[in-house]
Amino acid sequence: KASVMDVDKFGDKMSIESPKKSKAKSELAKLQENRKALPIYPYRDDLLKAIEKNQVVVIVGDTGSGKTTQIPQYLHEAGYTKRGKVGCTQPRRVAAMSVAARVAQEMGVKLGSEVGYSIRFEDCTSGKTVLKYMTDGALLRELLAEPNLASYSVIMVDEAHERTMSTDILFGLVKDIARFRKDIKLLISSATLDAEKFSDFFDSAPIFRIPGRLYPVEIQYTKSPQADYLDAAIVTVLQIHVTQPPGDILVFLTGQEEIETTEEILKHRVRRFGTKIAELIICPIFANLPTELQAKIFKPTPVGARKIVLATNIAEASVTIDGIKYVIDSGFCKMKSYNPRTGMESLQVTPISKPSAKQRAGRSGRTGPGKCFRLYTEFNYISFDDNTTPEILLTNLASVVLSLKSLGVHDLLNFDFMDPPTVEALRKAVELLFALNALNKVGELTRVGRQMAELPLDPMLSKMIVASDKYKCSDEVISIVSMLSVGNSIFYRPKDKQVHADNARRNFHTGNVGDLIALMKVYNAWRETNYSTQWCYENYIQARSMKRARDIRDQLEGLLERVEIELTCSANDLEAIKKCITAGFFPHSARLQKNGSYRTMKCQQIAYIHPSSGLAQEPPRWVVYHELVLTTKEYMRNVTELKPEWLVEIAPHYYQMKDFKDAASMKMSKGQRNGAGNLTVINLVPEAIREIALE
Ligand code: ADP
Ligand code: MG
Repeated sequence: KASVMDVDKFGDKMSIESPKKSKAKSELAKLQENRKALPIYPYRDDLLKAIEKNQVVVIVGDTGSGKTTQIPQYLHEAGYTKRGKVGCTQPRRVAAMSVAARVAQEMGVKLGSEVGYSIRFEDCTSGKTVLKYMTDGALLRELLAEPNLASYSVIMVDEAHERTMSTDILFGLVKDIARFRKDIKLLISSATLDAEKFSDFFDSAPIFRIPGRLYPVEIQYTKSPQADYLDAAIVTVLQIHVTQPPGDILVFLTGQEEIETTEEILKHRVRRFGTKIAELIICPIFANLPTELQAKIFKPTPVGARKIVLATNIAEASVTIDGIKYVIDSGFCKMKSYNPRTGMESLQVTPISKPSAKQRAGRSGRTGPGKCFRLYTEFNYISFDDNTTPEILLTNLASVVLSLKSLGVHDLLNFDFMDPPTVEALRKAVELLFALNALNKVGELTRVGRQMAELPLDPMLSKMIVASDKYKCSDEVISIVSMLSVGNSIFYRPKDKQVHADNARRNFHTGNVGDLIALMKVYNAWRETNYSTQWCYENYIQARSMKRARDIRDQLEGLLERVEIELTCSANDLEAIKKCITAGFFPHSARLQKNGSYRTMKCQQIAYIHPSSGLAQEPPRWVVYHELVLTTKEYMRNVTELKPEWLVEIAPHYYQMKDFKDAASMKMSKGQRNGAGNLTVINLVPEAIREIALE
């Protein structure tokens, strides 16, 4: 093998450096020409003037006009980076990475040097970095360390129309910073025309509009509603492929699992056609897409072939793919749904909004007239919401409240939100953080809370890690957290080998250890093989996901020191590990009912163990779950068995063992009493919560 490598190296040298260099040069020149052809280019100087004159500018322009890739470069060319970095936030990590890669290419520099990116668990920047692309969440975390953003001269909050939770919080924070840092510039850029709202929020900041160059898009609806939009999407792809002139296809679906299923079915069907049809290049894109697959999406399609991009709403605006002529819109996306009454959050497939549908259709008309196939009826379209709901109104605010508290924002009710969340939702967040011991009775951060805020994780996961110090198993717990952070893509289950895959998976569940411990076992087993890819193949584990888990784990291990938690290993003490899980997730406890369903302790809601769970066959009496997903039923995903005594041991302020005849428990409302047994949830009303409730 070594000799092959040597020959390769030699071959490289033999190809002589100069032709390569001149090729690089001409490529750079071509990229410069491309830059000048973008719709934003004619407005370069006017835009720079507007920024010079105003501290805050709202910028609106169609997707693909060049906002994200060009504006930071213009600012660099105009000298802004001499005074500090230009930071540009993106709602999604894949967008931050791919745009940074593109800009580095356009500037002819190495990614991570002058141009870099920073996303959760990955920092690809250096001391040289002047243009920094990052997720909105990453900038929020930077604010914890640098509250006035002193190292930045410009902050561009990009894709503002997406209204993610972190972007919304940034709005309030950067607006405040701009008040006392007159030298910082703020750019708020968005793809939609609804810019007045942003302008109003930023004290009537001027709006700079970049006229788009959209070609006409022909829209087709289905005649009747589609029972199965996945199947409809696949059929439509194949129909376009065999009947329509060249041009790539972009399909909007809702999530990774769905995209991977579609990819598999499509490949299978195409194989049946053999050489009777032209080549189809299938490219998936979703938030957790591995780095090495990202470049494939942007590669120009070879003549005679057709590219099919299977995307989540990430391709609506954050990522622009050239050459798309056909769009297939399922009409759905995955959204968080939050019930502030119960404090329960779940992921749910929901119809999109009208602006989303419009945005999706527009993706087909960037380079010429396009066609959009909507897999729903026109009547259906009329029922879509007129606006996209900001995430902050749909989500559990515990992590927001924790960040704000650690930034020193105590008066949550008077924080400058563009769309304030309900008092009820804020109250629930404070209540949860109090239950997790992150806040004290008067709503101040505790030591535990400060440790939790240092970890870039959901508060319940952070709490699990903080608790692992006491139970001496931080090694195992950070493995579990890393595996959970990768998403549901650890196990590989090909259609034609499902039985084998399921058997392999069952090995990790021996002893009904629960899904989180099973994840730990997978990680440990892989580590023992010295991270072997072959082992992954043999066990139907996705090697890519495992590598990502390892990267995340390395990061978390580094953070342990910062929060003063020792790396400890409790080898086979599964009870200690389960207690840590309980310490983070005790508000998610549920008890088995006679009819086989579960009832959650806190809200008395009915839920079921997800069929993919290792505990689905033999449901234990008590469980804690990681998350709820609503599909055909309310499902608990990633569940762990627990002993009810632990709840009282670990969260005595939350759970109580009570005798039913006890007078105190008789006074409790029916909803709060647990159907059978005598464990009850204490009604938490610390002062901090009461205060908020009074407003
Ligand atoms: P906007 O932010 O206004 O939507 P962008 O700056 O993202 O526009 O995109 C401008 C152009 O840059 C796109 O039309 C596309 O051709 C090109 N581009 C952007 N990202 C990439 C990438 N990762 N790879 C190749 N080309 C890209
Ligand atoms: Mg953009």
